[in-house]
Amino acid sequence: MSSARPVGIDDLPIRDELRGKSPYGAPQLDVPVRLNTNENPYPLPEPLVERIAERVREAARTLNRYPDRDAVELRTELARYLTRTGKHPLEAANVWAANGSNEVLQQLLQTFGGPGRTAIGFEPSYSMHSLISRGTGTAWISGPRRDDFTIDVELAEKAIAENRPDVVFITSPNNPTGTAVEPETVLALYEAAQAAKPSMVVLDEAYVEFSHGDSLLPLLEGRPQLVVSRTMSKAFGAAGLRLGYLAADPAVVDAVQLVRLPYHLSAVTQATALAALEHTDTLLGYVDQLKQERDRVVAGLREAGYEVTTSDANFIQFGRFEDSHTVWQQILDRGVLVRDNGVPGWLRVTAGTPAENDAFLDAVRELKKEQR
Ligand code: PMP
Repeated sequence: MSSARPVGIDDLPIRDELRGKSPYGAPQLDVPVRLNTNENPYPLPEPLVERIAERVREAARTLNRYPDRDAVELRTELARYLTRTGKHPLEAANVWAANGSNEVLQQLLQTFGGPGRTAIGFEPSYSMHSLISRGTGTAWISGPRRDDFTIDVELAEKAIAENRPDVVFITSPNNPTGTAVEPETVLALYEAAQAAKPSMVVLDEAYVEFSHGDSLLPLLEGRPQLVVSRTMSKAFGAAGLRLGYLAADPAVVDAVQLVRLPYHLSAVTQATALAALEHTDTLLGYVDQLKQERDRVVAGLREAGYEVTTSDANFIQFGRFEDSHTVWQQILDRGVLVRDNGVPGWLRVTAGTPAENDAFLDAVRELKKEQR
């Protein structure tokens, strides 16, 4: 055996801004109830599984060729879905798709951020906004939120005016706090961003199908520097598929072509996503069930004496704890994995199946009893 010390990351000539940093890492633990990554708990229905197999078999016959580089059929169907559910007419030219909305966000930052440029988000929010900024060499600015986790428009406008960011992130419903952002807030921040730079505003609507209100897609009208980012990972129950998409002015879609890798979206991915879109109504039925379950978990948590942030998503932020990590472990010891997002005093739980939610509620009720 060689006595040479194993090589570590720090021995490699990695970029300075990556030194000492950790990768995105929600634990993937093998426990009975996993409610930590905001996945949809329902497996795809069998007729859809069959349809995916059929469409993938068809696609397999031409896998010797590169896929449709522009994913036109898929973008057409995504535009149809958004038009039907988002109360705003959109065409394929308005829509772009990639491997998860994380890749969509990366392409946006590669296009509109980058070295010498800055992006702002109002934290706590989705941690990948800052991580993808770092990965693309975009300087990150952490904008403020109120103690109740809503965005203070005046403070946010001030942060935009002072920092003149190139990209402004707004997440609605916000992750990890769960609350949707008012359209007036998005409009005010868009105006502030235009006055300051003008910059791109990215509205991340990954969870919007679970919201009590509507998508803010209609705000795209007349606002060419607004981008709405969406995903099939949550409402479509297809986190494993890796399909995210954006809606924006066609010029934005043209702009991201400058950075996308050729043939980035495999023929298998396109075929699978098209099959899922054929079953939209069934999948949105699961979303309705999950919304009811979410509301039941909110009520259960409140009854048990926990504080809960208003949730428009398929997850709930609950607290408050002096030491949230200890509580996270105590819940895990009862076989339920929730998420510690590092927000002091709070944890996050994803709405699961009724049985999973019961297991979670039993665990947190038990904890309260033990504290008494
Ligand atoms: N945006 C938000 C707010 C999210 O929470 C997530 C996933 N956790 C994503 C985007 C990325 O999802 P995906 O890449 O699976 O589309």
